[in-house]
Amino acid sequence: MIAREEPTLLLVDDEPRMLKSLRDLMIASNYQVITALGGQEAVARLKESAFDIMLLDLKMPGFSGHQVMDFVEEKGIDTTVIVVSGETSFDAMSQVLRRRAYDYIKKPYAPDELLHTVENAVQQRSLHRQNKEIYNKLKASERLHRYMVNSSPDIVYMLDDKGCFTFVNDRIVQLLGYQKDELIGKHHSEIVYFEDMEQARYVFNERRTDDRVPRNVELRLKCRDADRAPKHFETNTIPIELSATGIYGEEADGKKQFLGTYGIARDMTERKEAERTINFQAYHDLLTQLPNRALFKDRLNLALAQTKRSGQRLAVMFLDLDRFKLVNDTLGHICGDELLQAVSHRLRECLREGDTLARVGGDEFTLLLPQIYGPEDAEAIAKKIINKLKEPFYIEGHELYVTISIGIAMYPHDGTSMDALVKNADIAMYCIKGRGRNDYQFFTSDMNEVSIRRLSLERDLRKALEAEQFVLHFQPQVDSVSGKIVAMEALVRWEHPDQGLILPSEFIGVAEETGLILQIGEWIVRKACSTLRSWHNAGLADIRMAGNLSEIQVEHKDFVALMIDVIKEHSLAGENLEVEITENLIMQDMDNTINKLVKLSERGVKIAIDDFGTGYSSLSYLQRLPIHTLKIDRAFVREINNTTNETCIVDAIIAMARGMKLNIIAEGVESEEQFIYLRNKGCAEMQGFLFSHPLAEGEAKRLLLQRPYEDSNLMNAS
Ligand code: C2E
Ligand code: MG
Ligand code: MG
Repeated sequence: MIAREEPTLLLVDDEPRMLKSLRDLMIASNYQVITALGGQEAVARLKESAFDIMLLDLKMPGFSGHQVMDFVEEKGIDTTVIVVSGETSFDAMSQVLRRRAYDYIKKPYAPDELLHTVENAVQQRSLHRQNKEIYNKLKASERLHRYMVNSSPDIVYMLDDKGCFTFVNDRIVQLLGYQKDELIGKHHSEIVYFEDMEQARYVFNERRTDDRVPRNVELRLKCRDADRAPKHFETNTIPIELSATGIYGEEADGKKQFLGTYGIARDMTERKEAERTINFQAYHDLLTQLPNRALFKDRLNLALAQTKRSGQRLAVMFLDLDRFKLVNDTLGHICGDELLQAVSHRLRECLREGDTLARVGGDEFTLLLPQIYGPEDAEAIAKKIINKLKEPFYIEGHELYVTISIGIAMYPHDGTSMDALVKNADIAMYCIKGRGRNDYQFFTSDMNEVSIRRLSLERDLRKALEAEQFVLHFQPQVDSVSGKIVAMEALVRWEHPDQGLILPSEFIGVAEETGLILQIGEWIVRKACSTLRSWHNAGLADIRMAGNLSEIQVEHKDFVALMIDVIKEHSLAGENLEVEITENLIMQDMDNTINKLVKLSERGVKIAIDDFGTGYSSLSYLQRLPIHTLKIDRAFVREINNTTNETCIVDAIIAMARGMKLNIIAEGVESEEQFIYLRNKGCAEMQGFLFSHPLAEGEAKRLLLQRPYEDSNLMNAS
């Protein structure tokens, strides 16, 4: 507050002598002084500058003191007017004072009295100015606080000792939809959700002992209008975190008097939503929104406890989409995901309220049917599901057919614990896969052993792939006239850390069912080609590599590209390779298969039909395919010793192959007798233990370098 040191005075009088004496008096008292001779001049001075005090004569010719005061009022000039006048009528005086003159001094004035009056006026002015500044500051700070309180992201409130609102900020309006004046005077229970009243009573309790510590609780507040709260808070409430502090006054006897509470309430919607999502994620599969394994287990446990008490039954199903991997691999993950969602949706339509369907793996689901009367009920649901999936799915322009295999385990018949039920349903499901898919099957005790082995096999296979436990062995294919090794057939083995070398017949089936064959197969193709490359580098340039392919590998959309890539990568020619496929593959999806095989054979890759004679392919099919070689299955070769009619088949196959100008290889040649018989019939190449068992890479290479069959006794035998 800066009070001016030297107040400025304007002295107005029409008499020069009067003016001068006033001036001298004021200057002597250290005032800054300006004089105006008459009303006109006073107005001119007032226009120029500001004066704290004006000593004003009333009666002036031309422009009176009254007119000067009019001017001051009109222009809102801030100056304190002290009238110094010879007029003594009460009228004149009261008129002047009514016009807010500070005082009225009669002429002739007593200097002391005048000075005293001026001094008082100056002091009052300075006081007034200070107050005004304080007042303005207070007003500004009040505005600021009000602004802060109202724009707070939290609700700010005050309750009286009865628990009724005495203040709320704007936030409550935005958040809950109430108007402020709707709430003022109302009891807080009007907006607290009834289930949380207990909590509210606790925080607003007037018999509080410790006033300094705010109490924090979580509450739900009711919104004024329906639909205001986020959709998933079914109660139409907003969750808040509330802190409340007591307000106390002092009573006459010095005791504390409870006046009410004030505090803030923070909107927790976002945090609650985040918690909800995290919670949901912990117990659900995000793709299908179905419960996950953890939630399924919870529900199953609960259902088991209830069922044990009620003596009822329940069923657990294990569902697995057939060959779903193929969809994923051929059409891509996005398509696969969409299909899974669509399938989940349809599955859900088959269920009753209270059933739990969970997604527990890529294409695996478990289903809990609590409170059923017997297997018939479970069977009915299984049938319903299989039926429901018969209609095609339309995903991204593809028409997709999905089939499913369902294993069922009943409580208490097939197990009384959660784990036993799930495991046995899984085992039953696996048995269907072995039988040809798209069916349901109840668990039976004899499934156990076979299936357990299968299950652990699958698990181990996945690990084997990562740990690179697969190896290739190579079995020579020998020219039956020259004894030259023309090709090696790559045969996969699994070097199991505990069980030793496992043959493909033990694991290829499971690898195919699980789709793992795609990765294993790709590894085999690469390994076979890199081995061949190393042999070529060792001077064995005219050796061919033969390898087996599963249907699933050939059906994969990238099959041809992969083959071509790998061939290029190892700088091989297509002619160096022969792929062995089975008749089954050809029968599955003729056009597609033919297409792919044609592309490969255009690159020079040779195509052989493996195990020929065991399948159902007719000659007419064979003619449409770009085939180079028929491999006679060893079942027919085995018959050669017995000189029965079966040899007719070998004869017929050889004759047919020669007619079609196909190369022919006999498999499983074990005896010299078989060798001679086959050679005499015109079978050009042979493979079997007679020559060699499948050999590890190093041994195979040594055999190739040794050329043991050329000019051997065997070749000269007849
Ligand atoms: P395959 O392609 O017909 O292979 C010939 C099988 O006959 C091999 O069994 C071989 O060891 C066996 N064998 C060869 N000579 C004789 C013989 O003189 N007497 C007898 N009794 N057996 C003989 P292996 O290696 O156990 O392979 C079995 C089948 O597994 C193969 O039949 C083939 O279908 C499949 N397989 C092997 N390797 C692969 C592979 O890399 N990928 C795929 N998809 N399947 C493979
Ligand atoms: Mg083969
Ligand atoms: Mg074979």
